[in-house]
Amino acid sequence: MSINQQSYAYGASKSSIREIAAYGAARKAQIGAQNVYDFSLGNPSVPAPDAVRDSIAHALTLPATALHGYTPANGLPPVRQAVADSLNRRFGTAYGADDLYLTCGAAASISIVLNAVCNEGEEVVVIAPYFPEYKVFIQNAGAECVEVMANADTFQIDVDAVAAAICDKTAAVMIDSPNNPVGAVYSAKNLEDLAAVLVQKSDELGHPIYLISDEPYREIAYGVEVPWVPALYDRTIVCYSYSKSLSLPGERIGWVLVPGTNPEHDVLVPAVAGAGRKLGFVCAPALFQRVLMDCVDEPTNIEAYERNRRALTEGLSAIGYEFIEPQGAFYLWMRALEPDANKFFERAKGFELLPVPSDSFGCPGWVRIGYCVSYETIVNSMPAWQKLWDSYQ
Ligand code: PLP
Repeated sequence: MSINQQSYAYGASKSSIREIAAYGAARKAQIGAQNVYDFSLGNPSVPAPDAVRDSIAHALTLPATALHGYTPANGLPPVRQAVADSLNRRFGTAYGADDLYLTCGAAASISIVLNAVCNEGEEVVVIAPYFPEYKVFIQNAGAECVEVMANADTFQIDVDAVAAAICDKTAAVMIDSPNNPVGAVYSAKNLEDLAAVLVQKSDELGHPIYLISDEPYREIAYGVEVPWVPALYDRTIVCYSYSKSLSLPGERIGWVLVPGTNPEHDVLVPAVAGAGRKLGFVCAPALFQRVLMDCVDEPTNIEAYERNRRALTEGLSAIGYEFIEPQGAFYLWMRALEPDANKFFERAKGFELLPVPSDSFGCPGWVRIGYCVSYETIVNSMPAWQKLWDSYQ
């Protein structure tokens, strides 16, 4: 066989989110953008802060060879120091530049961490519903993706179910809070309970179980605390990106943090560097490394998401839809009006509504509505949501 079958399978079966987005783009070209309510992609609708453009303008005054040249594989030391200083100010920690590895966004951060900690045949527990690419990244690291359903009412982590899923093959548990696709923010109590189980299981099994905390939505929370996970569990590794917080998804910039407090820090740091090397994920975009130096403390503008969230939740609940009140990120998790979310999606499509059916997130019966769209899209979609509802009565 001349090709890698696993890679072929990933490429041949596209992500359903991207397929819906492609359908949306084609449909908009057919009937006009204002007539299609595309809630599929997690592409921020808020522009990047002005400070980003100012920083780029300043960078363009630097000598071209300095600006466009290679950086160290793990990123420019002053940039890593600036990120560490920012975290230390916010979370009262004592991280250093060498605890950080700059990456091409959270996707690279997660792939690097999985390749740093997993061996062939090991397992990684994910909390369903979950970001579908997790499974691809886990399988690529030679591990198996073990899905554990979140609590059915709150969509917080079902800690007992996680405990039951952990076995001698478990290398890591992966979480994402504020959560895509549900919009839940895991409470300190929920994370403390998870930490207690992970401490107990690591002791019992005689090997460390890492907690991979994927946090691209950390700054997008609506009045609730987003606990700093390494403060609750020592063996946490954090994956971050500026795709959502600074609205820079196309620029591919983020980081991996191995906190100095992680007991395996001294072997994890080279393992992260080695995974980056192995995957070819070295030297994150130099221009955007420099942008971080200027913009690392730039606040995230969540006003527009907050306004959209209010309009969407008020509108849908007035019609009668059932959903999880989003605490963070920019997704709303709504129960489909029939058990098969794909059939519900097909019917929604008939009203030009494009949410994402929940099956691709590892959970039947719901849809994800991404509200990182214009306010007008939310407001103008309400009659269509009403018609969809009426069609089921
Ligand atoms: N993790 C989660 C939960 C996401 O929602 C996304 C993107 O939507 C990513 C990771 C990937 O982020 P990035 O664009 O920084 O690679």
